Amino acid sequence: MTNLTAFGLSDEQQMFRETIRRMAEEKIKPRAAEIDESGEFPWDIVELFREYGLMGVAMPEAYGGTGADLLTFCIAVEEVARACATSALIIAAQHLGAMPILIAGNEEQKRRYLPAIAQGERLSAFGLTESEAGSDAGGTKTRAVRNGDDYLLTGSKVFITNGGLAKTMVVFASTDPSKGTRGISAFIVELDQHGVSVGRIEKKMGIRGSQTAQLLFDNVRVSASNRLGQEGEGFKIAMRTLDRTRPGIAAQALGIAQGALDVAVDYLYQRQQFGQALSQFEGLQFMIADMQTQVEASRQLLYRAAGIIESAGFESHASEEVTRYSAMAKLMCSDTAMRVTTDAVQLLGGYGYISDYPVERMMRDAKITQIYEGTNQIQRLVIFRNMSHGSV
Ligand SMILES: Cc1cc2nc3c(=O)[nH]c(=O)nc-3n(C[C@H](O)[C@H](O)[C@H](O)COP(=O)(O)OP(=O)(O)OC[C@H]3O[C@@H](n4cnc5c(N)ncnc54)[C@H](O)[C@@H]3O)c2cc1C
Repeated sequence: MTNLTAFGLSDEQQMFRETIRRMAEEKIKPRAAEIDESGEFPWDIVELFREYGLMGVAMPEAYGGTGADLLTFCIAVEEVARACATSALIIAAQHLGAMPILIAGNEEQKRRYLPAIAQGERLSAFGLTESEAGSDAGGTKTRAVRNGDDYLLTGSKVFITNGGLAKTMVVFASTDPSKGTRGISAFIVELDQHGVSVGRIEKKMGIRGSQTAQLLFDNVRVSASNRLGQEGEGFKIAMRTLDRTRPGIAAQALGIAQGALDVAVDYLYQRQQFGQALSQFEGLQFMIADMQTQVEASRQLLYRAAGIIESAGFESHASEEVTRYSAMAKLMCSDTAMRVTTDAVQLLGGYGYISDYPVERMMRDAKITQIYEGTNQIQRLVIFRNMSHGSV
C-alpha cells in the first residue's frame, strides 16, 4: 500500500488517519462491491460511523459533534473514499445538510436540530437543485408564501442526496420571485410531515448505494422560526455553505484516486506479460509516476484549502480566498480522480473493465465528483470571479 506523507498533519491528525484507514480497510472495503451491486443504502455503515463519531466529525462539540477541524474531516472522508465512495458520501452529505444551520442558524435552531444530525440519529439533506435550476440555482421556483406565523412551501427539488431517507433538510425557496437570487430564503424543514412526498429515486452510474431522490412539497407548513437568517438571505447562505462543503467532495475524489492508484500499483507488480512484471515496463512506470504526482499535488491543495477555510470559521460573510480555494480544491481533486481512475482501468487491461477488480467501480464513482456541488465548469467560473488582480 502507498505510504502517504504526513506533511502538514499534527500527530493527532496522523493517528486519526491511521485509525480511520484501519476501520475502512477492515470494515468498509469488504462491503464496497456489494453496496455498489445492490444499490441499497448501507445503514450498517451509518452505525459504524456513529461508533467512530464520524457523522458530525467537524461539527462543534456544543452541538453534539466531535469538534474536529475541517482538515480532520477531509482526512476521514478521504480514507473512507479510498475503500468506498458511497460510504464517504454519507459523511460529506451529513456535513452538507448541517452546514447552512451552522452558518446561519440562531442558537435555538442549532440546539434543536444539530445534535441529532451530528450524532447520526437523523440523516440530513440539502435542497437547492430543481429540474430547471441546476447550475443556475438562482432560478429556484419553489415558493414559500408567508401565512401568519408560518410559511407554506410548494414546489419540488431534484437530485437530493439522502432524499427519502433524511428527516431534516434545508430547503431553498423563493419568498419574493421579483427579486431573483435576493428573493430566495432558506428553511429548515422536517420531512416526516404532511405535504412532503418522495418522487423519483434515480438510478445512477456510480455512488450507487447513495439514495438520490426528487422531493415534492405541497403546501408544507413551516414555522417562520425555522427560517435561517432573514428573508432574501438564502442564496448567500447556500453559496457560503458550498464554500465550506466542497472540500468534502474534493476529499471524496482524492480518496477514490488514491484507492485506484493503490490497486494499480499492486497489480503492476503481480501481473506478468512478456516474461516480466508489468512494473518493469517504463511506459507504465511513467503513467504511475504521473498518477502519484497528480494525487499528491491534489492532496496538498486540498489540505491548504481546508486550513484557509478553517481559519475563516463558520462566518457567513463572503471571502474571495475561501471561495477560490474551496473551488480550486474541488476542481483539482475531482479532475485528478477522473484521470487517475481512468488510467487505473487502463493499467489493469481487460481486468480493469470487469467488476472482479474495484477500479471500474472507482472510475464510475469518480465521475460524480466533477458534477455535484457545482460542476467543474462552474468551479472554474467561481475561481476566476474570486481572483483579485495579483492575488496569490
Ligand atoms: C448524484 C447526485 C447527487 C446530488 N445531490 C444534490 C443535493 O444533495 N442537493 C442539491 O441541491 N443538489 C444535488 N445535486 C445536483 C447537482 O449539484 C447538479 O446536478 C449540478 O449542480 C448541475 O446542475 P444540472 O444537473 O442542472 O446541470 P446544468 O446546470 O443543466 O448543466 C449542464 C452542463 O452545462 C454546463 N454549464 C451550465 N452553466 C454553465 C455556465 N454558466 N458556463 C459553462 N458551463 C455551464 C454544466 O457545467 C454542465 O456541463 C446532485 C446531483 C447528482 C447527480
